[in-house]
Amino acid sequence: MIKTIDIFIILLTLGVFIWGVRRRIRLWTVGKDENRSGQTKDRLKNLFVEGILHQRILQERYPGFLHLFIFLGFLLPLLVIIITQVMFSLPLIPAQILSLLLDLVCILAIISILLLLFRRFVVRPSRLDNKPEDLVVLLLILAILITGLLLESLKLTVIGQDVPAWAPVGRFVSNFIRILGFQAQTQILLAKIVFRIHFYLVLVTIAYIPFSKMFHIISSPLNMFFRSFKNKGTLSFIDLEDENAETFGVAKLEEFTWKQLLDLDACTQCGRCQDHCPAFLTEKPLSPKKLIQDLKDHMLIQAPQILQSRAEGKQKENQVELMKSVIEEDSLWACTTCRSCMEHCPVYVEHIDKIIDMRRHQVLMESQFPAELTAAFKGLERHSNPWGLGHDMRADWIHELDIPIMSEYQGEDLELLFFVGCIRSYDDRNKKVALAMAKILNHLGIKFAILGMEEGCCGDPARRVGNEYLYQILAQTNIETFERYKIKNILTTCPHCYNTLKNEYPQLGFQAEVIHHTTFLEDQIKKGALTLNLPLSKKLTYHDPCYLGRYGGIFESPREVLRSIPSLQLNEMTRTKRDSLCCGAGGGWMWMDEKIGKRINIQRLEDAIETHPEWIATACPFCVTMFDDAIKNTNRENELKIWDIVELVQLALFGNPDST
Ligand code: SF4
Ligand code: SF4
Repeated sequence: MIKTIDIFIILLTLGVFIWGVRRRIRLWTVGKDENRSGQTKDRLKNLFVEGILHQRILQERYPGFLHLFIFLGFLLPLLVIIITQVMFSLPLIPAQILSLLLDLVCILAIISILLLLFRRFVVRPSRLDNKPEDLVVLLLILAILITGLLLESLKLTVIGQDVPAWAPVGRFVSNFIRILGFQAQTQILLAKIVFRIHFYLVLVTIAYIPFSKMFHIISSPLNMFFRSFKNKGTLSFIDLEDENAETFGVAKLEEFTWKQLLDLDACTQCGRCQDHCPAFLTEKPLSPKKLIQDLKDHMLIQAPQILQSRAEGKQKENQVELMKSVIEEDSLWACTTCRSCMEHCPVYVEHIDKIIDMRRHQVLMESQFPAELTAAFKGLERHSNPWGLGHDMRADWIHELDIPIMSEYQGEDLELLFFVGCIRSYDDRNKKVALAMAKILNHLGIKFAILGMEEGCCGDPARRVGNEYLYQILAQTNIETFERYKIKNILTTCPHCYNTLKNEYPQLGFQAEVIHHTTFLEDQIKKGALTLNLPLSKKLTYHDPCYLGRYGGIFESPREVLRSIPSLQLNEMTRTKRDSLCCGAGGGWMWMDEKIGKRINIQRLEDAIETHPEWIATACPFCVTMFDDAIKNTNRENELKIWDIVELVQLALFGNPDST
């Protein structure tokens, strides 16, 4: 049925497709260099698991399976064409299996598109914004699938049902066509017409791919392939002493890297990031989906102009500043860096790196940041804690307890440095947690010490709001102290310190074994060093801190510790583990006022209350503070109490909870 003119049209279509794809990919070259090479095996494996098997997409079963069937409805016919037309003809049985698969996938894909159309245009979930293009794309694919099925059925009608193809759906439709009683010649004519329609629809769709949202067929797998394999909690490093650097952070489109621009094109607008964003869910002016889409729209306009300017050798390429024309100030600062968006994005878009890069420019180059941060920066600069409380008060929490200070430590047998962190050192509620940890270390007979006045903020509060300069000063100061004492093992009760010391200090040349107290306690319980005998007959729910769970991957250790406590009844929240909602304190929000929308800590407290708990447990000083505030602000002090896990271990070891 293919004529010379058809070959010309096919070549023309392919030409348009290749030109369009090349034009789109060139847009990413506007960005700066970034090395995403290496780990090819891991990259291919990730591509297979996510791109073909749809691991993340299927985490939402209903839309996930609809997408999978449409994807197979695209892929399988392509494979069949390659196998049967280009490579070789198959033996009977494999050919029959293939035709059966094709038949089933085709009908599943048709049903999926109809359900997707219903979901998009009748149910209308708030996370999906419908553009005319969405309808065009879905209708095009639907038309291709229906004409493909019809063509197969007409072939069966014309050739006769004796052909050995396993095609139950095709045969069913074919039987229906027979009932209509067309003459043989009419059937042949119909087959020819349907073939032509199917053929041109396929070509139009192929040519349309680079100019429509269907381009994600190419950009999303590429983005999955080039995803980051570095530690989840490691932000990109800036060499502040680089004399060639004209600016720091990102102010303009071309200051993003090529991978950050690829991210923008890979976004499928599915809205999963938005659905899990604590800022969006509490009516802040931030939607991670919108942020990516706004940057993408800007790239589609700006990048061709930059390329044009570069081709003409012009120096001043782009005067459009993102923070003045594309992203709103409140939106940039609303992010708590909770990582929920990135953990749920099926195509591995990296939102946080972009947000931090833009914050870096605002802080380092423009001195533009929320007013409350001024005091936090001053406190960090002068006293190495965000409240600016006296550095000499840092070890006041130890009271009369026998806790060795590193500078006075005698002997060479130190097993652990207990890095206390700012909140556990200065905040009255959190000082109790530090004390509980120290008492348990003493009980275990572990040779440990704290740094006391020599400890400084780990730097996380500065780094997450873009003050890389201050972060590096704070980190370097701690590193010098660690190196002076030849520290090899560090224990911390703060997931933010844990992440920074473990995953970010290596960028500055310091490496040590860093352990979070939940893992430490779990180990001690498992090896029998800690036996928790005293029952705590309470109903409790556990809140996963973002920097312990989503960042650190530590979900089970705290739960194992809780399960080791007799009579304690653990009930999980609906949003738990990877889906846990942030407490609202990360990304600098511990030191800023939430003036817009509902407070995130109140929302999270409501999540907890759904489980009817008497107690709430967590494992982070930020979360303890936010829950404590939420409990007080909702007058629930008499019904609810927030604990750090180590305090519960202390109770199960040494004391009766009713006496506390
Ligand atoms: S990191 Fe958290 S707060 Fe920030 S955009 Fe992502 S989901 Fe929203
Ligand atoms: S960034 Fe990812 S999760 Fe968010 S809308 Fe785009 S594809 Fe979906």
